[in-house]
Amino acid sequence: MSELLPIDHRYAGEHEEAQVSRVLTWLSVMATAFLIVIGAKSWASDHMVHAWVLWSFAIALSINMAYFARTGNLAFQKFSLLLIVSILFAYLVATGGESNTGPLWLYAFPPLLFYVTSLRVGTVVLVLCTVIAFIVFSFPELPFVTAEYHTDFKIRFFSTLIFESMFCYILEASRLKARNELVKQADSLEKAARTDELTRLPNRRDMQSRLQMEFSRYQRAGHHFSIALLDLDLFKNINDSAGHDAGDDVLKQFATLAQSIVRQTDVIARWGGEEFLILLPDTSLLQALSLAERLRSEVASYPFEFRGKELPVTISAGVCTIAKAGTLEELLRQADANLYNAKESGRNRIAPRVRTRDEPVAEPADA
Ligand code: GH3
Ligand code: MG
Ligand code: MG
Repeated sequence: MSELLPIDHRYAGEHEEAQVSRVLTWLSVMATAFLIVIGAKSWASDHMVHAWVLWSFAIALSINMAYFARTGNLAFQKFSLLLIVSILFAYLVATGGESNTGPLWLYAFPPLLFYVTSLRVGTVVLVLCTVIAFIVFSFPELPFVTAEYHTDFKIRFFSTLIFESMFCYILEASRLKARNELVKQADSLEKAARTDELTRLPNRRDMQSRLQMEFSRYQRAGHHFSIALLDLDLFKNINDSAGHDAGDDVLKQFATLAQSIVRQTDVIARWGGEEFLILLPDTSLLQALSLAERLRSEVASYPFEFRGKELPVTISAGVCTIAKAGTLEELLRQADANLYNAKESGRNRIAPRVRTRDEPVAEPADA
């Protein structure tokens, strides 16, 4: 039997990705606006080269946004944003920006980095950036370094940046831990809500959503499917003669046996009480009848027992296929009517009955 459907983490992941992408786009818009304004201010102060460099970064960010809008490639959007921002920060540290205040922008980097990448990648990039900043601060004679910083500034800058980075790391790590725990809890709650406690089979709610999905597949692509509605015969007698615990145990034994008989692609669920429903994707009525018949005969010959006492168990089943029913409601109604016919004609049987070649044509058993 196929596994319980997991909650759609793919959907949750996509949702998160979309949120990250929205935040990145807003950050890019803000950064572009800041770069344009600060560039204009530098232009007004006759720092033409600095102004043009800042505007070039604004153009690079705009191109990145436009490319993302066209392709929707979030991984590329993240990578190129980080690359642009890293080069911008390296430039600001090396030149000092306006009045040696450029390095202050580096404080925006750790939270952005941890938000966009993982803890590990973020840490590696931050260490690299710190090393680059350290080289720039220590070797002002390097060709691309034009700024000179006061020793006090350098010490405080590094201490505060390292402190901020560690703080961001801790916050992000605890955010991730809380998030993962929530996802795990939601996952197990969702599983519990879809599982029958006694038999551990999918429950009626889960089966209903699977039926709905299979029906959509049928409507969309014409994939046929069938169902078999099973009911344990005279189950009340087992409860009455061997006790409720025996009844419970028989239900569990039946669930295990049935699961071992249906195919990987079929799903058997506890529909309620001592009724079970098997969903058989890509299965014709004849194939479904043959599987139900096999299950019936296996159950009839299986040695069910409780506390050493053998308990005779049989099942009846009503089978129906979507092509005959047309709608889900009708499918379930016909399967139920067929189950009723199977019970009426003596139990331990499947309906509709398949006519053998020697039999005369009779009224179809299905409703
Ligand atoms: P039929 O062949 O017509 O289906 O007869 P039946 O006795 O199986 O049907 P009926 O509907 O009269 O009784 C079903 C019984 O199944 C009654 C109910 O107590 C029992 N049952 C339903 N759920 C459980 C369960 O979880 N555990 C136990 N032990 N019994 C259950
Ligand atoms: Mg019954
Ligand atoms: Mg019943």
